[in-house]
Amino acid sequence: MENIIEVKNLTKKYGSFTAVNGISFSVEKGEVFGILGPNGAGKTTTLEMIEGLRDITSGTISVDGLNVKKQREEVKKIIGVQLQTTGFFENLTLKELLVMYGTLYNMKVDPMAILEEVELSEKANAQTVTLSGGQKQRFSIALALANDPKVMFLDEPTTGLDPQARRHLWTLIQQIQEKGKTIVLTTHYMEEAEELCQRVAIMDHGEIVQLDTPDNLIDALLQKGFSKKRVEKQANLEDVFIDLTGHDLREE
Ligand code: ATP
Repeated sequence: MENIIEVKNLTKKYGSFTAVNGISFSVEKGEVFGILGPNGAGKTTTLEMIEGLRDITSGTISVDGLNVKKQREEVKKIIGVQLQTTGFFENLTLKELLVMYGTLYNMKVDPMAILEEVELSEKANAQTVTLSGGQKQRFSIALALANDPKVMFLDEPTTGLDPQARRHLWTLIQQIQEKGKTIVLTTHYMEEAEELCQRVAIMDHGEIVQLDTPDNLIDALLQKGFSKKRVEKQANLEDVFIDLTGHDLREE
């Protein structure tokens, strides 16, 4: 497998505090790679250093053969970054925002094709304030798709969404992967990581404590003799919720 991202001995210090402590890992082309960890573990800092949005204290990062420190502008052209929706220009429509984004990248975008991809065609002429939480998240992914990036970075893409909207977003992320893009995401939802990610890195205190496929990580834990106090049933409360309220989105 070819690696599209290579991170070597990456460190970030904020004054005397070390937020990321000499981590190394690579992301394979075409995979969904998850970065998991408790609050403050260093996930966002790591992501933003790879994106070229935060300065690196030491270490190297390459994305598709480009050195992030030295070729920041070139890197920006081939990556898509999901931004928080709060900063959107309120007076513009979704269509206009997408065109404006394309202009920033010097690219002519087909806004309707992208809106179709994230199932927001009907909202093309609406303003972002009128969108539900799930729709806002899908639109922020649409913006990240505007420059047709090779690698997409999603920082907690489903935080705050209801189970239906979350599952809908999972399908969208899988569809984007099927189109050949590489996706790096952070999440606090373990079932999300299990569903979407081929491999996950678990971070704590600025270090990667484990990196493997979800399956291998679970097997390794079981081999250590771990067993649950309560035997899991075949379904959980989320399955009950979905069974009672359906898969349909409530936001449209
Ligand atoms: P969360 O799950 O809460 O988003 P995270 O794993 O993304 O957490 P980071 O946001 O990367 O964690 O933060 C890692 C550590 O670095 C935290 O202790 C945070 O307080 C600290 N930190 C982050 N940004 C700065 C900054 N600009 N200045 C000083 N300290 C910072």
